[in-house]
Amino acid sequence: MSPLSVPFADLHAQYLSLKMEIDRAIEEVISESAFIRGRFVDQFEENFKRLIGVQHCISCANGTDAIYIAMKGLGIKPGDEVITTAHSWISTSETITQAGGKVVFCDTSLDNFTIDPGQIESKITPRTVGIIPVHLYGHPADMGQILVIAKEHNLWIIEDCAQAHLAKYKGQQVGTFGVAATFSFYPGKNLGAMGDAGALVTRDSKLADWCALYARHGGKGEHLIEGINSRMDGLQAAILNVKMPMLKEWTIKRRAIAKRYDELLAGVGDLEVPKASPDVEHVYHLYVIKTANREAIQKKFSENGVGFSVNYPKALPFYPAYAQLGHTPTDFPNAHRDQSRILSLPIFPEMTEVQQDRVVGFLRECF
Ligand SMILES: *Cc1c(COP(=O)(O)O)cnc(C)c1O
Repeated sequence: MSPLSVPFADLHAQYLSLKMEIDRAIEEVISESAFIRGRFVDQFEENFKRLIGVQHCISCANGTDAIYIAMKGLGIKPGDEVITTAHSWISTSETITQAGGKVVFCDTSLDNFTIDPGQIESKITPRTVGIIPVHLYGHPADMGQILVIAKEHNLWIIEDCAQAHLAKYKGQQVGTFGVAATFSFYPGKNLGAMGDAGALVTRDSKLADWCALYARHGGKGEHLIEGINSRMDGLQAAILNVKMPMLKEWTIKRRAIAKRYDELLAGVGDLEVPKASPDVEHVYHLYVIKTANREAIQKKFSENGVGFSVNYPKALPFYPAYAQLGHTPTDFPNAHRDQSRILSLPIFPEMTEVQQDRVVGFLRECF
């Protein structure tokens, strides 16, 4: 990699900043053979529930499983409909199907890429049981309106917080609004492990007990139910325990980098910088601009070693996986419009101003 290149994210820089502590934690896990369950996992669950401010944390193998387990815990039945956003990573919708439900997509807000609460009610039928809002890119969904709708129609809410660790809506942390909330610790997430890891959090003790049982073969010794095997391993837990105290500071850095992008990119060509609602504290898992000039920018970035990504190339209803639903662009005009215009710029807590200035310089050259 040329010294002038700018990575999309720099996981190695983050490792180096904590190398001694992480190496020591890994050694401890190995010397105690605490690979599955054990004190590191117990400690992770304690730490994480305190961080989010909920009573229960069930660690599991990844963020996708967390959504699936939560839905199973809520007793989803075949034919039950779950409303979710047209714009997300596929984990959010595929788990609805796997849990036995039917996916019902809802369009997004053009302002912040999250589910448009104004369109949720038109998707509700007598079979609707729940809503899964996604705090996409780190911007909280409009939980105020979503809670009102859920209450009125007696629906549960599972928050998909995979991209939104520590984000806030009206001063309240995400992960505390729904009956359950799910997190991913995929390496590139705002709090990332060194492999797959996930967790679900909830205030509901019964739901927590059932989900823990289900994720661990329905109980040890006595199998009370048939479950699955979805565990966070000891190594990932120990690594996350080292990183967790840094998350606040990393989040502050992400927000500062985003603010600087906002300032430097104002008025550059047709670029639209991400809008954060005044109600929220955006944690910028991704910094996503919109432009009609995406191809030229991608070419310029590729030629100059600047990382970028498109999250995601299509809105979910338009992937082959959902062809059977027969959706057309007019069903989700906002998500469809965004899919051809979005571009995620490099952002990570260790990013330097020099790196950021290079990204901005190349963007300017495209107009
Ligand atoms: C990353 C992600 C997930 C799933 O997480 P994994 O740990 O990769 O299984 C779910 N939803 C969203 C929105 C994500 O970004």
